[in-house]
Amino acid sequence: MFEVVIGLEVHVQLNTKTKLFCSCATSFNHKQNSNTCPTCLALPGALPVLNRSVLEKSVMFGTAVNATVNRTSYFDRKSYFYPDSPSAYQITQLYTPIVEHGTLQIDFEYGTHKIIRINRAHIEADAGKNIHDGEISKVDLNRAGTPLLEIVSEPDMRSSEEVILYLKKLHAIVRYLDISDANMQEGSFRVDVNVSIRPKGDEKLYTRVEIKNINSFRFIQKAIEIEVARQIEAWEDGVYDDEIYQETRLFDQAKQQTRSMRGKEEAADYRYFPEPDLLKVAVDDTMFETFRNIPELPDVKRERFVSEYGMNEYNASVITASPEMARYFEEMMEQGISAKNATTWLTVELQGRFSGDVNIDNSPVNAPTLGLLVKRIEDQTISGKAAKEVLDYLMEHDAEVDAVIEKLGLRQVSDTGAIEKIVDEILAANPDKVEEYRNGKEKLFGFFVGQTMKASKGSANPQAVNAILKSKLG
Ligand code: ADP
Ligand code: MG
Ligand code: ZN
Repeated sequence: MFEVVIGLEVHVQLNTKTKLFCSCATSFNHKQNSNTCPTCLALPGALPVLNRSVLEKSVMFGTAVNATVNRTSYFDRKSYFYPDSPSAYQITQLYTPIVEHGTLQIDFEYGTHKIIRINRAHIEADAGKNIHDGEISKVDLNRAGTPLLEIVSEPDMRSSEEVILYLKKLHAIVRYLDISDANMQEGSFRVDVNVSIRPKGDEKLYTRVEIKNINSFRFIQKAIEIEVARQIEAWEDGVYDDEIYQETRLFDQAKQQTRSMRGKEEAADYRYFPEPDLLKVAVDDTMFETFRNIPELPDVKRERFVSEYGMNEYNASVITASPEMARYFEEMMEQGISAKNATTWLTVELQGRFSGDVNIDNSPVNAPTLGLLVKRIEDQTISGKAAKEVLDYLMEHDAEVDAVIEKLGLRQVSDTGAIEKIVDEILAANPDKVEEYRNGKEKLFGFFVGQTMKASKGSANPQAVNAILKSKLG
């Protein structure tokens, strides 16, 4: 029996306005190579100056994962040549990173938790992009020098399930902190997965293989399963030592396999040395206290939702998975509605109506409106069924809930006098059925409810209809 051992390196692109060491803009939609200057083009003599906001975001992250924030840290130079890196080195933090020794809690479905240790988080500069265009390759340096926070976990994960839980939690945390937009498709949340196997019970770490650049949670899960199978097979065939060595592999989604990209460089290959163009990084007391003010994080919010709104853990974790959802939900709750109804109408009814680019950020129906709609069900102004019609209408039109209820004629009649009148008419029109019912054919009750609802054009309050029918039929 084998145990899977996984550690992750996640590159989070920090959402600063300007780059790490110069004042070029960090937006990527601009004309190629337009957001560049002597510093990020690495022209001789241009010197880097650290962006304070990068420091702030890094300290916020360190605080969020209960890590040690090194009040003094340093930059190092990692040498390698690649066409999209004009300096032929990367500025990073090897020896003393800004953040060390953190923890992140993952939550299993049935209420159990596990702590994954974070080894470090360090600041580094991103490279540009190579664009391959037929025979020609071009280089766009708009991204060169944008700030990354590389978050390195300990090899604490034991399954692809744990990996996904870790990544989702990490994703939520950086989104809550608003330090990155963490968009996987656009490359602002990039995951490298280190995988090894070992006989169960063995404490020693075996050879790790790094799989790079997988841009969705689903593919990450698949890539791990495939790589683990390859390693186990090599072990069982007695060729583990020959076939499994430390290297970087790519996940080929079409072929459903991982394949070798390059052998693993050792630290010595990079000729690391302290970056001579930058001073040490110092976080003074005032900065430290200011930067450590962080918003409520998903774990705390989830527990608060459980205690404050009486939600179950599962619903609370669904709602708190993104800050937008949580904010939307809390705004709905201001209408004084039940958390259960708010959850259903948000996660099932509203989200079920999203398609294409429509999401919680640009929802055509805002939180106070959806909250009020739920309130109109709870105060029995409309039925749940009618509320769905109102929501359909609101998805297409900019309008007020109460006005739509009137416009579509969906207001429920709870006035017992009016309902009694309808019931009397129905009973008078169906004397034979009334007789059968009284003689024991109880399932006819549904027929009377149906007839009454139909006669009221669906507007009668079902509870009232039931009660009145019960008393009249005896
Ligand atoms: P490098 O930059 O060379 O990839 P790092 O120290 O930055 O090295 O990252 C190593 C990553 O690999 C960490 O996330 C660590 O937890 C993980 N790791 C180390 N050893 C193993 C192993 N035997 N199996 C799986 N993951 C491992
Ligand atoms: Mg690595
Ligand atoms: Zn620049």
